[in-house]
Amino acid sequence: MRSPAARAFGTVALTAAVFVSPAFAQSPDTWANPIRPFQIGEGLYYVGAYDLASYLFVSKAGLIVLDGGDQTVGKQVVANIRALGFDPAQVKILLNTHQHYDHAAGLAEIRRAAPNAKLYASAADGAVIAAGGRGDPFLTGKAYEYEPVPLARTLKDGDKVTLGGWTLTAHVTGGHTAGCTTWTFPVRVASKVRQGLVHCSSSILPGYQLGKAETYPGITAAYEKSFATWKALPCEVFLASHGAFFGMNDKRKALDAGKADAFVDPAGCKGFYERAEIAFRAELKRQNP
Ligand SMILES: [Zn+2]
Repeated sequence: MRSPAARAFGTVALTAAVFVSPAFAQSPDTWANPIRPFQIGEGLYYVGAYDLASYLFVSKAGLIVLDGGDQTVGKQVVANIRALGFDPAQVKILLNTHQHYDHAAGLAEIRRAAPNAKLYASAADGAVIAAGGRGDPFLTGKAYEYEPVPLARTLKDGDKVTLGGWTLTAHVTGGHTAGCTTWTFPVRVASKVRQGLVHCSSSILPGYQLGKAETYPGITAAYEKSFATWKALPCEVFLASHGAFFGMNDKRKALDAGKADAFVDPAGCKGFYERAEIAFRAELKRQNP
């Protein structure tokens, strides 16, 4: 019997080429590598690692952090906030794309630096984070567990989170996890207000069952609904839970070279969702011939 980790990572070579799981196409050996934090827009910073993303929203009323990476990256996020000249203790709100350990285990590290920070998350994913990774229907076992963070506020689809001028809208886009949450918000980039979007994940992990047999009840319908939502959401500043989803490293290089709007990429966002939906439909058909 292969371990859950082998199940999730072992079939990378088979799946990466067909875009089933770009998250796992990135070697887990490098995805937590530290990188220098950088500014994406007015008050918006990338504070994550090479592939495991984390975003900092700065306001006079305090800070918001969206995603904590894994435990290693969580420590980097705290250091990156400090390196940018902000005080991690000022983090008031913790948000999350989804409860998998590579995006949620670091939240406890951030909360250690900001003990009053409150976690807002969807009902389904918030419950798993509050249980330290336990309760996921697929990634089960010690390797996927982490330090729990209590849920302070349960977010429903369409709920808004506000702090000091920021308004982030939660879109519950289930599938990859039951409570996967995609975030949208206006943000000024290169002197123009644009629609920012942080994509949760549309990846179908190798081994996920769709159609007649389901990894969890309703997973297929959840993906269907999410693709309809994603295609309708405004997406100019395209960001996501994994850097690989939106070409973070190339865009960061372009930004360094002076392209102030390097992360403004509505066409890239549209293309990403088109390819992801094609991969979903192909996988659904393959499993349900
Ligand atoms: Zn995931």
